[in-house]
Amino acid sequence: MTIESRLRADIVEVGRRMYAREYTDANAGNISVRLGADRLLMTPKNVCKGFMTPDMMCITDLDGRKLQGDRDPSTEMLMHLEVYRHRPDVQAVVHAHPPTATGFAVAGIPLDRAVLAEVLTTLGSIPIAEYATPSTAELPEAVHKYIKAHDGMLLANHGALTVGPDLFAAYYKMETIEHFAKISLVARMLGRENLITRQEVERLQGLRGMYGIKAPAPICADPASVDAGGGSTAATGVADCQIVQAPSVPSSSGTRLVPDLIDIRGGSIRSAGDALRQAQGEGEIRLTYRELSALIEDAIRNLR
Ligand SMILES: [Zn+2]
Repeated sequence: MTIESRLRADIVEVGRRMYAREYTDANAGNISVRLGADRLLMTPKNVCKGFMTPDMMCITDLDGRKLQGDRDPSTEMLMHLEVYRHRPDVQAVVHAHPPTATGFAVAGIPLDRAVLAEVLTTLGSIPIAEYATPSTAELPEAVHKYIKAHDGMLLANHGALTVGPDLFAAYYKMETIEHFAKISLVARMLGRENLITRQEVERLQGLRGMYGIKAPAPICADPASVDAGGGSTAATGVADCQIVQAPSVPSSSGTRLVPDLIDIRGGSIRSAGDALRQAQGEGEIRLTYRELSALIEDAIRNLR
């Protein structure tokens, strides 16, 4: 089997996995790999990634000119070219719309909190590239800001992009992003997200080297010091480190993102109205349907 035929088969396999895991629907998503120094092997436009065959792929040069293939290359080719232009270490690029991660991208919430050690050692933080119209030159411009410092990012109101030293490494980063998004969502639904400390983040960064993980940029756990030092995107408009939200003291010692719920079912509270009054200033209250109905009835009675 030649290298090219193996890479064609690998793209087919990764496409199947993405479709099976619902990272793409219909004809969405695209995949590319370097084929030698100056050529790319890329998925074609308008095909479902779950049903590709090796002969469908296109070969282009690094300027996007089609060199071989019956079909035209992906409509997101410009985004792929932008990555290869700025990251000579990258051998493969994967783009998909995994639903939970894309939900974060739609909500404008980056996955940049120090929550999981394995995510910190592999991807660092996952920023959101600002919204750009898909398939236009705007999208590579948005990606440009983060691609030097990140192997994975969300695309605002669109999806996610991952890159790697080989195709499966890039694909697994897509899995990690979606998995991380699911865990983050559950933690936030539970109302508590304890963060790993800044000191621990620094320790994990040291472990990257020990594990042989090549990260494109260092983790910076302190946005304030980055700004002061002229790092981040301040000077060039291009991120040169991965900014992670991490507290200087352990979360369990008092840093809370969501305040404790007020126990409105406790014996000390006589009515929903009392609960509401008790909650004033606390920022959050949750009522059952029955309690809410009682509150509305109270309000209507007072109006009469
Ligand atoms: Zn897309």
